[in-house]
Amino acid sequence: MLSKSLGAAMNEHLTKELYAAHLYLAMSAYFDANNLPGCAAWMRAQADEERTHGMKFYVYVYDRGGSVELMGLDKPPSDFRSALDAFQQAYEHERHVSEAINDLYAQALKEGDYASQVFLQWFIQEQVEEEKTSGTLVETLKMVGDSTASLLLFDRELGNRGAGS
Ligand code: MG
Repeated sequence: MLSKSLGAAMNEHLTKELYAAHLYLAMSAYFDANNLPGCAAWMRAQADEERTHGMKFYVYVYDRGGSVELMGLDKPPSDFRSALDAFQQAYEHERHVSEAINDLYAQALKEGDYASQVFLQWFIQEQVEEEKTSGTLVETLKMVGDSTASLLLFDRELGNRGAGS
């Protein structure tokens, strides 16, 4: 059974994943408003993924005899300075989530909760991917710079996400 404190920490983390979905949806809205449908679609796919992350915690907490208590979500930013700014914020947010997962893992380790360690290992690996993907997109956008033509190509490329990942 999940300890009370680890259960509470997992509830808090569930909210963090749901907030990430909220944040990506806000970014999607920004891109839709600015005629970059590829980036908007990419952000929406990302939002869906974050929701499934949150649901993994939801299911796990109940599997281990805990209970879920949802918390309120903060209002995400609604405007961004540029595509680069949005992706930079996405990258920073992923780094923040990675740290939060590491903290959960450290707690599971301290408590000798092996099942939670195994559960969290999936997320640790997932965060390596998330940081790599968003970090690469930030670097690509730095290369795009002020070129509208390159930004449109970038947008088209991101619109293909459904086909690839
Ligand atoms: Mg996530």
